Amino acid sequence: MDRLPDNVPGSWFVDSSCVPCGACLQFPDAERLLSWNPQHSWVRFHAQPVSCEDLALALQLQAVCPALAICCTPEDSPRHGRSPS
Ligand code: SF4
Repeated sequence: MDRLPDNVPGSWFVDSSCVPCGACLQFPDAERLLSWNPQHSWVRFHAQPVSCEDLALALQLQAVCPALAICCTPEDSPRHGRSPS
């Protein structure tokens, strides 16, 4: 799936498999990182995770997405052994 164009630059992004169901935006504090695009047709990252708390939130948001649309480039994923800065 392709990275949606409304995501801010960076490792984390929502891809074109976003339904969009809105489930991620129901998660507490999700709006720190995610929001609807202007057309309300998909969700995008309007901010990249910059702190450990943000990164933990991004991972939780990834877990609640039923479409597996919340993605992180592999080289920057904490699941691949890189620590957050
Ligand atoms: S939970 Fe996933 S599919 Fe649903 S709106 Fe959020 S990113 Fe899109």
